[in-house]
Amino acid sequence: MIELKTSSELKQMMEACKIAAGALKAAGEAVKPGVSTAYVDSVAHEYIVKHGAVPTFLGYNGFPAASCISINDEVIHGIPSKSRIIQEGDIVSVDTGATFKGFVGDNAATFAAGEISPEAQRLCDATRESLYEGIKMAVAGNRIGDIGSAIQRYCEERGFSVVREFTGHGCGRVMHEDPSVPNYGTPGRGVRLQAGMTIAIEPMINMGTARIRQLPDGWTIKTGDGKPSAHFEHTIAITSNGPVILTQI
Ligand code: MG
Repeated sequence: MIELKTSSELKQMMEACKIAAGALKAAGEAVKPGVSTAYVDSVAHEYIVKHGAVPTFLGYNGFPAASCISINDEVIHGIPSKSRIIQEGDIVSVDTGATFKGFVGDNAATFAAGEISPEAQRLCDATRESLYEGIKMAVAGNRIGDIGSAIQRYCEERGFSVVREFTGHGCGRVMHEDPSVPNYGTPGRGVRLQAGMTIAIEPMINMGTARIRQLPDGWTIKTGDGKPSAHFEHTIAITSNGPVILTQI
């Protein structure tokens, strides 16, 4: 069931989203060669708690941290670790969320550690831009397939591939609400978008094959061919005045 939010609920939800955005920004600034992914996670965690919110990811289906941190060929759901040290040239995807006064904000971005390869830069740029292409289509009266097809077209035109097994999602009083928001699709198909819907759009884009595999840790998702992957996410609201990015700071 899709839960539409009133404008006062959207205002409240925006507070959770701003905290999630601040945590992501702080974590991104902490990404540097030589630091552990556990340290980057601790920065996000402390930011969320300091702002009176609860780290949404911590304990979610048993996940042990406030953020997922996924390096290079890790697509999503990497578990922060003191022994995982970020190296020069890595691309580091951080995904984090905050729960505040009954609402959730969810966002992600891929950060460069030091100097990255031009190919990795192109992948990150295309993934970020594809998110904005998707957001542009998040207009009342459009359909879910309009979002996914815009993301897919933008990335595939640049030679990249779209992960199919994981998607964006409704986000509101809980992190994962209906509907699911695939990063591929057919224009004009799927659920009709309405003012009051709040969704997380999150392209997960691979440099090589779209295939993925899960590590034995039960969480980490990697690309099937070992090539890098990038991930950007915003929680947005569909309003009568167009899409509003709630996790923008
Ligand atoms: Mg999400």
